[in-house]
Order: sequence, then structure tokens, then C-alpha cells
Amino acid sequence: MITSTNPATGETVATYEVMSPAEVLRVVEQADRGFQTWRRLDVAERARPMQRAAALLEERKDALALLMAREMGKPIAQGISEAEKCAWVCRHYAEHAHSFLVPEAMPSDAAKSYAAFQPLGVVLGVMPWNFPFWQVFRFAAPTLMAGNACVLKHASNVTGCALAIGDIMRDAGFPEGLFGVLLVPGEQVARVIEMPLVRAVSLTGSSAAGRSVARAAGRMLKKCVLELGGSDPYVVLEDADLGPTVETCVASRLINAGQSCIAAKRFIVVRPLERAFTERMVDLMREKTLGLPTEPGVDLGPLARRDLRDQLHAQVTESVRRGAVRALGGVVPRDAGAFYPPTVLTSVRPGMPAYDEETFGPVAAVIVAESEADAIRIANDSPFGLGAAVFTKDRARGERIAAEELEAGACFVNAFVRSDPRLPFGGIKDSGYGRELSSFGIREFVNIKTVYVA
Ligand code: NAP
Repeated sequence: MITSTNPATGETVATYEVMSPAEVLRVVEQADRGFQTWRRLDVAERARPMQRAAALLEERKDALALLMAREMGKPIAQGISEAEKCAWVCRHYAEHAHSFLVPEAMPSDAAKSYAAFQPLGVVLGVMPWNFPFWQVFRFAAPTLMAGNACVLKHASNVTGCALAIGDIMRDAGFPEGLFGVLLVPGEQVARVIEMPLVRAVSLTGSSAAGRSVARAAGRMLKKCVLELGGSDPYVVLEDADLGPTVETCVASRLINAGQSCIAAKRFIVVRPLERAFTERMVDLMREKTLGLPTEPGVDLGPLARRDLRDQLHAQVTESVRRGAVRALGGVVPRDAGAFYPPTVLTSVRPGMPAYDEETFGPVAAVIVAESEADAIRIANDSPFGLGAAVFTKDRARGERIAAEELEAGACFVNAFVRSDPRLPFGGIKDSGYGRELSSFGIREFVNIKTVYVA
């Protein structure tokens, strides 16, 4: 049985039967049947249901936001923005897929030679709960526009969201079964990857799940894209404009109650600014309201699950035991829900979970650096490499550090790291491999076919 639980109250939202192996096979076979007609449509024809999906996301955004609030605790206003962003990615690929997929001439000794981009077939998407609509559409919009079919295995706690996405795809008019939803737990994913009709897999989730999916895909020699965790460093140099810098850092740390792979997690501040930075950060974080995600004006809802909240608190407690200083928060509220307050830890050093690990919640780790070079060293001293940012009034200095020094898939200057359909998204090191979004994302699940005409 799969259960979705309201993290604000601890109440069960719904329960679902796990699909049998025969039912899973049926979903995959239907997706493959849909693929056989879909792959032959030209991109303009594929764009029509994609545009309708965008319109449906906008039409249904209030209901979708309520579903997110119930299943994973996202405040309503943020859920509405998420649905709108999904509509954006659908429209982006509906409008630009043609130019991304146009065959590329490759002059050689042939009369004619070029690279064409052909779909692969059924692609499995294993997705997380933190942006339960965005993560799925970010994967599905380019994958479908490239001519593939998709089957979604969503995080178990957002099964209602998975089914709502399935409804949108059906109502948008994609061929029947082209987008399928699998109701299976994470442990059964390897078996789905083994199915001959499944040609590739994309996972967004933890590094542990990434390793497991990569193992299964490797055994079957299937392509995989992995978007995993991060511990994004934000480097604050002595010439940073402190007011906007702290506001940006706080906004990035608290987005989605801190449950974002690209949320800022480590704040590496050069010594002369550290005290003023921390004081401002504490003041701003203290003002944020924690409450029921369905109440208006709430900044942070509960975390998505109680076990995740307890895990985060254990990381804070262990960091404090090893010498970190609790400048704000770090105390579990007496409440049935999975709430966790905005928390600031200072004097964070190697050997503490707040330094070494990803903290998936509203916990900021402030780390002192002695110089620009020291700050860069600390920023790169992480198993992860997803996003990074640098703050300085000298934009050329910031750009140099972002472009040449920081080890991450996306490096921003004086801005917080965000995903945008127009820009590639993905990581290095334990943050995974492959790219989503932009022209790079749509070319992950295609056969780059060489055509040679003598
Ligand atoms: P998770 O446990 O890895 O779950 C993500 C998805 O993987 C779920 O659908 C889950 O299914 C499935 N899964 C779990 N164990 C699996 C396994 N052994 N084999 C195959 N699939 C498995 O991650 P989470 O705790 O829900 O999400 C938070 C993590 O995701 C964080 O580390 C975060 O940084 C990362 N994340 C990364 C990005 C990115 O773009 N890089 C974006 C969002 C989140 P069940 O729910 O059924 O277990």
C-alpha cells in the first residue's frame, strides 16, 4: 500500500494499491504503443497537446496548489507559481523543440552528411516530492517533444500529484498511454529499468537513489540522467553589497522550506563581513512565518515528511555537538506536523554534518573564510557540485570566479541559483550527470543519428 500523509497534521490523505508486475507491464506497453504513432508526428503536431497541457496547468493551478499543500506542505501561493512555471516549460518546448531538433549538417566526404535527432522510445522518470509538478514537467516536456513516451514513477508521498499529472496529459490529448503513471515504491524501480521496452531513465532524487538507478541502468546498458542532491555554496566577498546579498541568501535558503536541491546551503563569508552578515541573516530569518500551508501569508509550511524533519534535526544537533553555534532556531516545535524553524548555525567547520552533508530544510550554515582563495577552496570542498553563487560589487571578479573557479553545474553572480527552461540544469560530482532544460535537455533522450549519403 502507498500512503500519502498530510505533513502539517499527520493525517492520511489517501492510500493507493501498489501495481502488480502485470499492471506495470501494461502501462509500459501502452506507452510504447503511443510512442509508435507519436514518433512519426512532426514537431508542430506534437506541440498542440503540449500547448493544451500548458493551458490546463494554468486553468487547474488552484486545485493543483491545494494538492501540493496537502501532500507535501507547500504554501498555496508557491504551489500556484509552480503550476505556472510548468506551463512555461511546456510552452517553451512546444515553441522551440523544432529548432533544437533540426538536423545538423556535418560536412564530410559524403555527398550529404548530417546528424539527426531521433527519439529512443519509452523513458522512465523517477521523480521527487519537493517540486512535485515542476520536476515532472521539466523532464517530460522535452522528452515528449523529442518524440519519446514517458512513464512516471513519482515519490510515493505525492501519488495524488502523480495522478493529477496523468489526468492533465490525458485531457491535453496526447496519444492514449503515451504518458503513463506507475504506482510502485522506489525498491521496484530496478525491475522497471530491466523491462526491454524501457529505453532510458531519468532520476531526480538523492545520491543514494542515484547510485541504485545508475547500477540498474548500467547492468542493462541503458542511458540515464541523474539530478541528485546539492550543498550549494554562496561565497560572500568583502566588497559584496550586504543588504541585497543577505536578502538573496535568505530567499534561496528558505525556498520551499529549504527543500530544494539548488537552495543555498553553505554561506562562505570572508571574515571582515561575517558578523554583520550573520546578524542580518538572523534578523531576516526570524521574521519568516511558519504555519499551515493553506493559510494565507505563510512563508514556510511543514517539511514534507516527519522522518525527513527528524533527519534534518539530527544533522543540526550533531553539528552543534561538534562545535557549531546555534544563532537562531534549531528547536523542534511541539506540534503534530513536520515543522522546522528557520535555523542559522555559525562556526561551521569540516567534520560537521552542516559542512559535509546536504541539509534539506531551512538550515543555514555560516562558514568563515580568510580570503577569496580560501572561500573558493571551501566552496569546492564538497562531494556535491550542483549550483554555486558569488557576491561582489565587482562583476568582472564575480564572473571570473563563477566561470573559472567554482566546481558546479551552474554558477551565478549576485543572484540565487534557479532553474529556467532556457538554461541548462544539472550537476557534477555526487550531484549527478546529464543535463535538463534548454537544447541540452531535449538532446539527452535522443539517438544522435549520423546520416551519410554517398
Ligand atoms: P529519494 O528518496 O531519492 O526519492 C526520489 C525518488 O526516487 C522517489 O520517487 C523515490 O521513490 C525514488 N527512490 C527512492 N529510493 C530509490 C531506489 N533505491 N531506487 C530507485 N528509486 C528510488 O529522494 P527524496 O528524499 O524523496 O528527495 C530529496 C533528494 O532529492 C535530495 O537529496 C535533493 O537534493 C534531491 N533533489 C535533487 C534535485 C535536482 O534537480 N538535482 C531536485 C530535487 C530533489 P519512493 O518515494 O517510493 O521512495
